[in-house]
Amino acid sequence: TEDLFEIYYQPVYSTRKKCFITLEALSRLQHPELGWIAPDVFIQIAEKNHMIEQITDLQFSRVCRFLGENRYLMRHLLNVKVNLSSLDLMRNDCSRHFIRIMDAYKIPHNWIQFEITETVATECNASLRRVAEEFTDAGIGLCLDDFGSGFSSLGLLKSFDVDAIKLDRIFFEDIAQKKAQDILCCLIELAHRLHIQVVAEGIETEEQLDFLRTTTCDMVQGYYYARP
Ligand code: C2E
Ligand code: CA
Ligand code: CA
Repeated sequence: TEDLFEIYYQPVYSTRKKCFITLEALSRLQHPELGWIAPDVFIQIAEKNHMIEQITDLQFSRVCRFLGENRYLMRHLLNVKVNLSSLDLMRNDCSRHFIRIMDAYKIPHNWIQFEITETVATECNASLRRVAEEFTDAGIGLCLDDFGSGFSSLGLLKSFDVDAIKLDRIFFEDIAQKKAQDILCCLIELAHRLHIQVVAEGIETEEQLDFLRTTTCDMVQGYYYARP
């Protein structure tokens, strides 16, 4: 209620255009006594206490306000990526709710791409299919986050349409191994065959980037280029 949240933006690099092409909005909580609290921590607590919808609304309005006040940014960017939780997707007027917020700040719908983790997508598969369709119809993008970290990645690609997938950091931890490289190449090829863009996440080293340069991966996000 005191709104101690902030948003940090992490830029994502386009391998084709050779410049930053999108931003991911990441929440931060600055507690007066406890100090800085990581989103992994407070989002989990908020989900448990059914407060996540309020935080999402606060943060999503903040992103829309920021974009409304800095419209020139969008001359250079494709969209801004915003994370959603399962409870956000299960609210009954989910898509209309977010569209209302965007419209209030006069934000074109294609400026936003929502990110949903693979785990969340599995939890609310049925309702997600409907929401995903409504987002697509409204021109809002959808990205499957942490792709490959769970157990149902490929099944999810079959059951609903997404614009992008984000390959989980774990794939890039042992990038020197031929097996890891082969899996990544196949995943990128598979995504492209389905007309889905691919983002590599958690890229920190020159070695990881050297490998990515040999692939057709579309975007790269990580400390190598910029911290949030
Ligand atoms: P995520 O969506 O997978 O976001 C990427 C996380 O990886 C971010 O952590 C980012 O700071 C971190 N990261 C980026 N590049 C690198 C890198 O090169 N190396 C390493 N080790 N880490 C990197 P952050 O900001 O702590 O967020 C953690 C998670 O909290 C996010 O994971 C996301 O699932 C969740 N989250 C953050 N903000 C929100 C929000 O507003 N709403 C919801 N529902 N979830 C959020
Ligand atoms: Ca994300
Ligand atoms: Ca991720």
